[in-house]
Amino acid sequence: MTPAPEANPVPDITIPDALKPRDGRFGCGPSKVRAEAIDALVADAPTYLGTSHRQSTVKFMVARLRNAIAECFSLPDGYEVLLGNGGTTVLWDALCFGMIESRSQHLVFGEFSSKFAECTTKAPFLGEPSVQRSDPGTAATPHTEDGIDFYALTHNETSTGVATMIARPDGIDAGALVAVDATSAAGGLRVDLNECDAYYFAPQKCLASDGGLWIAACSPAAIERIGRIEASGRWIPTSIDLATALDNSRKDQTYNTPALTTIHLAVSQLEWINNNGGLEFASGRCDRSAEVLYGWAEASPVATPFVADPEIRSHVVATIDFDETIDASAISKVLRANGIVDTEAYRKLGRNQLRIAMFPAIDPDDIEALTHCIDHVVAALG
Ligand SMILES: *Cc1c(COP(=O)(O)O)cnc(C)c1O
Repeated sequence: MTPAPEANPVPDITIPDALKPRDGRFGCGPSKVRAEAIDALVADAPTYLGTSHRQSTVKFMVARLRNAIAECFSLPDGYEVLLGNGGTTVLWDALCFGMIESRSQHLVFGEFSSKFAECTTKAPFLGEPSVQRSDPGTAATPHTEDGIDFYALTHNETSTGVATMIARPDGIDAGALVAVDATSAAGGLRVDLNECDAYYFAPQKCLASDGGLWIAACSPAAIERIGRIEASGRWIPTSIDLATALDNSRKDQTYNTPALTTIHLAVSQLEWINNNGGLEFASGRCDRSAEVLYGWAEASPVATPFVADPEIRSHVVATIDFDETIDASAISKVLRANGIVDTEAYRKLGRNQLRIAMFPAIDPDDIEALTHCIDHVVAALG
């Protein structure tokens, strides 16, 4: 049998090497891992990989991870770093069970923020959540309500390229917690952790590592909440029990076996950020990339930033619309055929668009090179 011809063959366009970025990875997660981090892993591998996570070598690496997070985010007094397996999606379930007392409010402005709201909507032991929606490309704002004990914010909505300022909403109930999904923001966007009680993320985005781990910086109020819910007798599956995660984290361990590679790569990235000037250094690189990319799109006759309001345009994930004369998916395919990968639009958003990560590991010069490559492809397609 001969294979069926491809419906949309990739246009045969060769991008000159001189235009290409040094590294062709622009995906939003898993995202570019720095070569130096791989080298450091290889150097440590003989004594680190394949060794017990209950012994000091790995526990020391987990301690380095927790300390580097504390340093990077200038952890306020009493805040603690918790970690566990499963990534952010699993942490959402853990938060449903172990940190929301009875009712949450969610700001929903894209796919990721909507998924967490879906978890709490389905949880039979929680009240119907309050869901504040806004259109993709805009940011929802919190709406203070009585009886809400958990406000769920998202620092950067990865599906749309909208970033928000993290601030504790005014007038919330005493003891209400503010939790922030910072999966694609943590380590690339500025934040004051005093403004929230749980700042949580996974390391395959700004931390240039691999997936499978969740990390949460928790305030004393959040830690108190974990203990109180645990003591209330609510049934919580052990693998996602935050009290168990807290116990283990305090011992620089996880409840079950973690991916040692993920931990090592995250440590490399965080220490690289910290040794170069911390969060200000990392967010400065992202600012530079954003200036280059949005500046290019605004000047382009065919491209426009999708997020209309420059104040909420993300400096870590850019979404760029193309006018109807250009098929953005054809651009992504040509880029991919030339070794420049993962610029495809977020599928569910359904727009004629490219989505481009500008995480700290991605060199602003490579973002600039990417714009030249896109110009080349657009000219060749037209
Ligand atoms: C990637 C992402 C997630 C999902 O993370 P996983 O580790 O794959 O579960 C959740 N929220 C945001 C904002 C993300 O960018």
